[in-house]
Amino acid sequence: MIRFNLTCARGHAFDAWFASGDAYDTQRAAGQLECVVCGTSKVEKSLMAPAISRKGNTVPAGDGGEALKAARELAAFMDKVRSHVEANAEYVGDNFAAEARAIHNKESEMREIYGEATLEEARDLIEEGVAVAPIPGKRRKQH
Ligand SMILES: [Zn+2]
Repeated sequence: MIRFNLTCARGHAFDAWFASGDAYDTQRAAGQLECVVCGTSKVEKSLMAPAISRKGNTVPAGDGGEALKAARELAAFMDKVRSHVEANAEYVGDNFAAEARAIHNKESEMREIYGEATLEEARDLIEEGVAVAPIPGKRRKQH
């Protein structure tokens, strides 16, 4: 079962359960959906507000609590990314730019690394076609 928030042509909002998304489409196409307030069959799904967008470019709707929850989930996700990097990549410290370049040029063993780089170093790497990205999240480990 799936619940959709629906809105009629006159702006009445209500929700209804359907066996599936297809069932909604079928019933709507057949004119079987009716607004519970005014009875019109001109009913559309309301836009849903997911807690967090996978594309990360949608501002969550809803009250402040929802936005805060989304922000917390995003922070938790960022922490996971960082934990993955810290668990799987080799820390190379200030040698990051040199090492990333060496790996890119196949002069060094192919592996995941992370470390410190200045803004200029990062910019140079990107210009040279070396894929680098800042690690999101809070720093946990001290090296
Ligand atoms: Zn209505």
